[in-house]
Amino acid sequence: MTIDMDKCSGHARCYGTDPDLFQIDDSGYALRPGFEVPAGGEDTAREAAASCPERAITAQ
Ligand code: SF4
Repeated sequence: MTIDMDKCSGHARCYGTDPDLFQIDDSGYALRPGFEVPAGGEDTAREAAASCPERAITAQ
């Protein structure tokens, strides 16, 4: 899973989808540009990608 940090606008919706998977700063911006999705978390990852209004998240 990758997050385009230039597109991220701090909506924190990814965090709202899965606070264990996504880390955000105090302003609501994603902190990590990429990470592995744990086994079984694929559906949640896709849901988070769809929730991002900036289309900053790519689930691979
Ligand atoms: S939902 Fe998108 S814009 Fe909002 S914090 Fe997450 S990656 Fe950034």
